[in-house]
Amino acid sequence: SDLPPVDPATNPIAIALKYVHDATESERESYNRPGAPANEQTCANCAFDMASEGEWRPCSLFPGMAIHENGWCTSWALKS
Ligand code: SF4
Repeated sequence: SDLPPVDPATNPIAIALKYVHDATESERESYNRPGAPANEQTCANCAFDMASEGEWRPCSLFPGMAIHENGWCTSWALKS
């Protein structure tokens, strides 16, 4: 991906959605989103991830920016 990475510290969407590049440091356990066990939820298996490979990927919730394959945010939903 040529897109610039989302900055979790300053991007308003990232802050609102509690996005982090490392899901192990996210609040996924407390949110316990349905679809997969919390400790298996990452951007790589999220429905909003617009790529199927790559460390940095486009996400439909972050237009023009890249999220990390191992990231997580509170909008996580299982990719079908
Ligand atoms: Fe990652 Fe999904 Fe959140 Fe996008 S919507 S940042 S792919 S968890």
